[in-house]
Order: sequence, then structure tokens, then C-alpha cells
Amino acid sequence: MILRERPVPETILYNEAALKRLPPLSDLRPQIEKSLLKARAGYSGECRVDRLLSIIDSKDTYIIHDLCLQTGSTYIQIDTLILTKYLALILEIKNISGRIKISPEFGQIERTINGEITAFPSPIAQCKKYKIHLKNWLKKMKLPSLPIEFLVVFTNPSSILSASPHDTEVVHKVLRIENLLPKIQELMNTSNSHFIEEKELRRTSKMLLKEHRPYPINKFQVDYIKGIQCTRCKEFSMVRNKASWLCAPCGSYDKRAHMQAFNDYFLLMGPEITNHDARDFLQISSPRLAQYLLKSMAFISSGSGIGTKYSQPN
Ligand SMILES: [Zn+2]
Repeated sequence: MILRERPVPETILYNEAALKRLPPLSDLRPQIEKSLLKARAGYSGECRVDRLLSIIDSKDTYIIHDLCLQTGSTYIQIDTLILTKYLALILEIKNISGRIKISPEFGQIERTINGEITAFPSPIAQCKKYKIHLKNWLKKMKLPSLPIEFLVVFTNPSSILSASPHDTEVVHKVLRIENLLPKIQELMNTSNSHFIEEKELRRTSKMLLKEHRPYPINKFQVDYIKGIQCTRCKEFSMVRNKASWLCAPCGSYDKRAHMQAFNDYFLLMGPEITNHDARDFLQISSPRLAQYLLKSMAFISSGSGIGTKYSQPN
């Protein structure tokens, strides 16, 4: 049973909005494009796993995609968590192409592609850290302790994995997506020595969902292009006209063009917007129009008068 579907990652939405509003000559463009490509590749690998797991049709198996928990000052971002009465299984999903050498003793993996070697942090070390944090979190929330297992799933069909055959940890914990379902089944079959009650399992999953927090992303400090973008010609040139938005260069009208601008504001600028912020970002002069638009968006408001702040509902 899927308890939480995977949303489009905030990193993708943020980088897309940033590229759209980045001044044309900004030095940051290559860095943001690279980050967007990486995030899209990761998301595509995760979606492959999601499609595979969607065929697990068991009401006793709870699946939570993209779970982020805050433990102290750190965050753990679990790609997928599978919960049963017998165990909690963390899946770390990697969509990396090329030849991949896994050497956990050095805490990293090595990827060779077109003769270029790149090192990545070891996903095994990462999972071990998540396991400790999740165990502590369950204890802190006074939830029953469950055995916690993890698997690292490589999803890229063109990658070639290698490791020392003597490295039993890699052999048991790292696999290709094709072997994921049988491996999960095997783990379920062998992990039945200890179990928790069904209602305890429900309470645990409910609490995990409740405590999920969006993973904070690093934002760039940039003077973004302001204004409302024309949906047809992509110029930031729309002006209010006849209760709609008119693009002077291409002559098209779009009543809803301000909605994307508000989305961009929340992605790029911050979680709250005032009337003043809205006028500045949308490049409009009328406080009455700004108020009308803000109220039309079904945002959550706090405060009153000039200091009223609006935010997006969760
Ligand atoms: Zn236009």
C-alpha cells in the first residue's frame, strides 16, 4: 500500500524556476543546469523503482516515498521506506551511468565514464547513517523498535557495477533494479523472528508521515528577472488589461499568467509574500490589484493590514 507518492523534487522545480528568471549573462547558469540534470536523472531512477513497487499489492506492506525527517540539526532523506510488521527497509536509489566500482572501505564509489573518473559518497555509508538516525527517531517518538534493513538499488540500465567478490556487504546490500522484488521477498521471508502489532505499525507509519519535512535546499542569491512571463512568447512583459494579462510584444492574453509568477516567488524568494513583495515581483503598481490577486490564490494569510503575509497551503 503506497502511503506517500513521490512528488516532483523541489530541487527540480527550484532549478527550473531559477533558469527561467536568471539574467541571460549570469555566471550561475552552467551550475544550475548541471544541478537540474542531476536532479532529473535521480528522479527518473526513483520513478522506475516506484513503478516496480506499485505492484506489491499487500495491505500489510506500507510504502513511503521520499521521506525526510529532522533529527536534531540534521535531516535524513530516505528515497523509499518500506514498512512491515517484521522490518523497516530503507531503499537508497542511484541512477548513475558508466562503470561503477564500489569500495565501501574507503567510504566512496568510483564512476568511470568516457575515461573520466568521478568519486561519489558511498551509499552504503549513507544508509548506515540513516539506519542509526531512524532507530533513534523511533526511540525518541516512543514507537516500537523494528529491525531496520537497507538496500542500495542501481537503476541505470547502462551502468556496470563491480566490487570485490570478498566484500560480502556489497554483495548483500547492493543490487540492480531487476533484482529488487525478489530481494525484498527474501528479506521479508527471513525477517520474521520479531514483529510488532498491526496497530503499532499503523501508528508508526502515521507518525512518520506527520513528521515528514521538506528537505531544505541551498538557494542562490540572485537578482532574478521580475514580472509576469508570457505563456506564449516567454517574455516577462505582461501588463494588466481588461481584467486579464496582455503581452505587448506578441499580443496574447492570459487571465491566469500571474499564477506561475506566484509559484516562482515561493520557489525562489521564500515561503511568505506580502502585498509589497507581490507588487515588486510581479511588477505591478496597484496595491488593490496585488491584494485582489493574492486573495484569489487561496493562500493562507497571517497578520493584518499592511503587514499581512501570505503563504502556500501545505
Ligand atoms: Zn508574448
